[in-house]
Amino acid sequence: MGVSASGARLWHSLGLGPLWRERTILPALVPVKEDQPRPSQLDWEGLEQAVAACTACGLCQSRTQTVFGVGSRSASWMFIGEAPGAEEDARGEPFVGQAGRLLDNMLAAAGLGRDRSGEQAVFIANVLKCRPPGNRNPEPAEVTACAPFLRRQIELLHPRLIVVMGRFAAQAVLASDTSIASLRGRIHQVAVGAHSYPVIVTYHPAYLLRNLADKSKVWDDLCLARHTYSRLAKQSITRPSET
Ligand code: URA
Repeated sequence: MGVSASGARLWHSLGLGPLWRERTILPALVPVKEDQPRPSQLDWEGLEQAVAACTACGLCQSRTQTVFGVGSRSASWMFIGEAPGAEEDARGEPFVGQAGRLLDNMLAAAGLGRDRSGEQAVFIANVLKCRPPGNRNPEPAEVTACAPFLRRQIELLHPRLIVVMGRFAAQAVLASDTSIASLRGRIHQVAVGAHSYPVIVTYHPAYLLRNLADKSKVWDDLCLARHTYSRLAKQSITRPSET
């Protein structure tokens, strides 16, 4: 997979990358105060508080509240979207609008849910924790500022499988500007900390609301995700030291 300059910028912004690339640690946009712990040192509660108090980019001025994420913090499934919309900004929870209802239906069809436990549990987060005004696309500087939070969420959750929804989230997490059509249908890997996580790409539920004909493609992606998850679960039972 080729990585263009803009893709590489997003990739470096998130501090994520394919394993065969050396990771670069970019300086934070906003200097971290020495007396404040870095996101990489925080537990779930500390991280949620740090997100709520974040002023690292201009989105803090227009948000109603931050949207940290929802679901079980011991889930083995992680779903990642783009950024909160108006309803998420008002309620403080990701995917609660029309697209969120579709996502819940898709998850239920796959035997998963944000309120479920055990192997059916998912944790849902966004690349950005604050709403871009007017639902505009996130800017690279905003992704850079927010990246340590998503990185730490991935580290703390340590999911077996990550599903990214939509072009923006896919390109940001995979550091690619490849089209979503080309990214679908295969298993990518992202490195976060000492671990590599499998990633599957699918369409964003908001896109599906406008393009119902593509629902079957999302179903295919969820089937691939389920199949991959089961295979990885079996591997971790037979080779527990490699998880
Ligand atoms: N779209 C997203 O990507 N995330 C949300 O939380 C809501 C809509």
